[in-house]
Amino acid sequence: MAGEPQDDCLFCKIVAKQVPATIVRETDTTVAFRDINPQAPTHVLVIPKAHHRDAAALAAAAPDLAADVLRETQAVADEEKLESYRVVFNTGAGAGQTVWHAHAHVLGGRGLEWPPG
Ligand code: AMP
Ligand code: ZN
Repeated sequence: MAGEPQDDCLFCKIVAKQVPATIVRETDTTVAFRDINPQAPTHVLVIPKAHHRDAAALAAAAPDLAADVLRETQAVADEEKLESYRVVFNTGAGAGQTVWHAHAHVLGGRGLEWPPG
C-alpha cells in the first residue's frame, strides 16, 4: 500500500534506523541525510518517511508530504549556508533514479552547470 514501509527498500531502512546514515535533519514526516557518494561539497538527500516510489507518486498520493520535503530542502540549504543550490528529483531509470523511494537531492557548495547532463 502507498506509504507503507517496504521490506526491500534501503531508504525505508534508513528511516527505521536499521541502516546507518549521517542524518542532518529529521522532522515528524521527513529525514535528511548525507549522500554516500557526494557529487558536490554539500549533497544531502531529503526523503519522506512514508514510502512512495518516486516524486511523481509522492506528489499525486500525498501533496502535503511533498510540500514537507520541499520545505526541508530549503531548511537544509539554510543550515549548510548555501546561497545557490540545486534540488533534483531523478524520476525514472532513464533520468538516473536508482533508489525507488522518493528523494530530493540538495546539491551545492560549487558552481553547477546548466543545463545538467
Ligand atoms: P538516485 O540515483 O536519484 O536514485 O539517487 C540515489 C542516491 O542514493 C545516490 O546519489 C546514492 O549515492 C545514494 N545512496 C545510495 N545508498 C546510500 C546510503 N546507504 N546512504 C546514503 N546515500 C545513499
Ligand atoms: Zn522506502
